[in-house]
Amino acid sequence: MTFQARPRGLPAQKLLPSGPDRADTLCAQEPIHIPGSIQPHGVLLVADPSRAMAIVAASQNAGLVSGDSQSNTLLGVPLAEVLGEEFTATLMDLAAAGELPGETPWETALGLPGGAFEIMSHIQDGMVLIELEPVAPTDEPDALAAARTLQRAIARLRASGGGLRELAQVAVQGIRQLTGYERVLIYRFDQDWHGQTLAEDKVDDWEQSLAGLHFPSSDIPAQARELYRRSLIRWVPSRDAVPVPLHKDPSWDLPETPERPIDLSFSRLRSLSPVHLQYHRNMGVDGSMSLSILHEGQLWGLMVCHHRRPHRPSPGQRAAAAALTDAFALRIGGAVQRGVEQARRADLQRLAELMAHMAEADGVSAALTAGSVTIASLFGCMGAAVVRGDTVELLGTAPPAKDVLRLTAWLCTQAGQDLFHSDHLGAEFQDWPHAGIASGVLAVFLNAERSDLILWFRPEEPYLVNWGGNPGKAVEPGQTSILPRLSFERWVEERHGYARPWEDWELEIAASLRHAITEVVIRSLTRIAELSERLRQSQKMEAVGQLTGGLAHDFNNLLTGIVGSLDLIRNRVAQGRVTELDRYLGAATASANRAAALTHRLLAFSRRQTLDPKPTDVNRLVTSMEDLIRRTAGPAIHVETVMSGGLWTTLCDANQLENALLNLSINARDAMPDGGRLTIEAVNARLDDAYARKHHDVMPGQYVAVSVTDTGAGMPPEVVARAFDPFFTTKPLGEGTGLGLSMVYGFAKQSNGYVRIYSEVGQGTTVRIYLPRSMGQVEPDQEGEGPFPLAAGPEGGTVLVVDDEPVVRMLVGEVLRDMGYGVVEASDGIQAAKLLEGGRRIDLLVTDVGLPGGMNGRQLADAARTKRPGLKVLFITGYAENAAIGNGLLEPGMQVMTKPFAMDSLASKIRSILV
Ligand code: ADP
Ligand code: MG
Repeated sequence: MTFQARPRGLPAQKLLPSGPDRADTLCAQEPIHIPGSIQPHGVLLVADPSRAMAIVAASQNAGLVSGDSQSNTLLGVPLAEVLGEEFTATLMDLAAAGELPGETPWETALGLPGGAFEIMSHIQDGMVLIELEPVAPTDEPDALAAARTLQRAIARLRASGGGLRELAQVAVQGIRQLTGYERVLIYRFDQDWHGQTLAEDKVDDWEQSLAGLHFPSSDIPAQARELYRRSLIRWVPSRDAVPVPLHKDPSWDLPETPERPIDLSFSRLRSLSPVHLQYHRNMGVDGSMSLSILHEGQLWGLMVCHHRRPHRPSPGQRAAAAALTDAFALRIGGAVQRGVEQARRADLQRLAELMAHMAEADGVSAALTAGSVTIASLFGCMGAAVVRGDTVELLGTAPPAKDVLRLTAWLCTQAGQDLFHSDHLGAEFQDWPHAGIASGVLAVFLNAERSDLILWFRPEEPYLVNWGGNPGKAVEPGQTSILPRLSFERWVEERHGYARPWEDWELEIAASLRHAITEVVIRSLTRIAELSERLRQSQKMEAVGQLTGGLAHDFNNLLTGIVGSLDLIRNRVAQGRVTELDRYLGAATASANRAAALTHRLLAFSRRQTLDPKPTDVNRLVTSMEDLIRRTAGPAIHVETVMSGGLWTTLCDANQLENALLNLSINARDAMPDGGRLTIEAVNARLDDAYARKHHDVMPGQYVAVSVTDTGAGMPPEVVARAFDPFFTTKPLGEGTGLGLSMVYGFAKQSNGYVRIYSEVGQGTTVRIYLPRSMGQVEPDQEGEGPFPLAAGPEGGTVLVVDDEPVVRMLVGEVLRDMGYGVVEASDGIQAAKLLEGGRRIDLLVTDVGLPGGMNGRQLADAARTKRPGLKVLFITGYAENAAIGNGLLEPGMQVMTKPFAMDSLASKIRSILV
């Protein structure tokens, strides 16, 4: 078998595809090793496959291999003669198969006349380089121990759950244990090839620490970095060992390429460059080793081992160190990911907070600055700005608004879609005087015009850079060969105008924030604005509908007043009784005037009423009302009052409180058509500061809380939200006025108290009125006679007239008095109910159906009949209230008249009823 069959230099071509970049030519600019010699701890043989593996070059110490101290005797000798047939045949097979690349040489061991050797072979430039290193007696036990240590070290790496620094620390400790070097560090390249010490482990008595130092990229020139990427290990047992020259067969140099050096790029015996050795001298380092850390095919960093004296880790230890370095390299991605995850999780948390703030805001501007603290602290920033058109909101430490606007204008002209970022803004944007606080900027554009944006600023970070060398200083060619830097002193190179770079994940979060703001917040706020406009519109329509209904009712009342007055005038004139006409004319005029003012009054509906607050004993008040409430509620509802001892006196208008409780009881009754339980309860209540903070309308203090609770239908939240609105009702036309709770609310407010609704659909409702505590005394005759004008009851009988329209009351009253009846008047259902509750004689109830205050005419009649069965009732209705009174299907003794009506038809109706 001959190598002639295979094209020469194929593996070499594969390795070094780009001629001009070849390490050896670049090394000419700053040689990283001395061509033509090797370190003395091994032997190098070079065999030429095209000459049947004849040795064409050898290090001067080649005689070690054959036990012959004579140097340079092997040139021209076939390799098989020196290393044996078997070894040579395998080597040729591997070479033919292209399996001897410099990155992964073939490693084996041989017993030779000169002793046992570790052998590494690889092909370079078509030549096979065979490196032989004498095995020391301790190498084998060392290798075993190293294998065990390696296992433990890898286990520790695997267990390291932290970020990159923690992982690196575990790795350097492991390498030091494996190899016995005095100092091991991991040195990481940044994107500009500057390096930084990420982790260091060293013996205690070596004070010089390289931890945290930065090193300029010029320390490791580009060609060296390229070589390190492919040749993964450099090893110098002793810095000052005298190199061994290489001798070449004269046929080595082809005529066309004279003086071709042997390319030692992948040789483990290669000497370090004089520059490098000078570094080591300056640092006090003698023995050293450095392993490349590759991550995703790139030179990511170096594992650097230093010793102050010569040091030789055994081949097994070196192999274990290489394995551990690889194990570390494999975990870089995960550790970076974990570190990123942690920072990212923190920012996502902030993002979530921000979104929550934004969701609560009621406008876009408010939303953007709602979480201003959070916005500014995102990405570990100290300052940010929110720009909306010409308005700038500065958050934290940020440049002045005018400069932010200038920057914004410039950003508009920049490329990129949704984001802009820079960690060296001064270099891109002219006249930027704010490098100190804003060397870095990250901007997200919130609209296509880029008039709205959020900017984050990052300060300059020169103080972070502790250079271990001068990055500006080139390695100068000296008179003889190379003049290495003479000092390795540290000094700070101030890098002006640089901020910490923006990480990819930070850009991702900024992008998702942008997305959230533009797609979610702005859109949904716009949508909410739209919807609430629609809602306002529909509420307006509903209110208009209610007002129209109410107006029709009131107008009919007033028309009744006018038409009725005219009727009466006509009657009186016909009878010749002209003396009292003024009164009816006045009534008619008043009705007409009031009709004119009606729209105004309704629209300006206000909760103001004249109150007469006095110290009130709520226990007594509730007890006195119990019977009335029971009657109003009807037999299907169990009424219970729970009065507490020691109840404070409260300050309120007792009459209005009665009305309020009656209103609430009526609502409770309406909510329990199939019966249930109604509880009225009064307790002392202290509203403390914490409660007041939660309910911004509340003053902390002492109150009496009166609750009306039912086990009825309950209210959904949207009904609760509007229940206090005047005219808001869910009840059918004619049954609800929507004024009950509005009255309760107005009363509580005017009494310096509060009212709250607690309701659950299907469970029931509690309405609780808080009335302020009073220190005054309850007046003994508080209940008195009441405000009702009580006419005497003549023999013909007494009629109770209930209408909220005084003119109607007056007219009907006149007709009745004319007919010889006694008349009692009430202006709403609740007043009337109280009158009916008393013992006075009443033969007929004439009542309007739609009455204010929560109790309509029908309900009034029902309640009255529980106490006075068979009480005669005449409904006079000015409204489409048929449903309320049973759609014409009235009980016996009940009649109905529709307003407006003529006074004489009223008279005959009453007469027919009372006969
Ligand atoms: P109205 O009783 O005339 O409808 P209110 O102002 O008294 O007017 O009540 C407004 C609305 O609040 C009612 O229509 C009803 O929907 C609801 N509501 C009030 N009290 C209760 C209650 N105890 N249970 C269920 N819903 C109630
Ligand atoms: Mg009501």
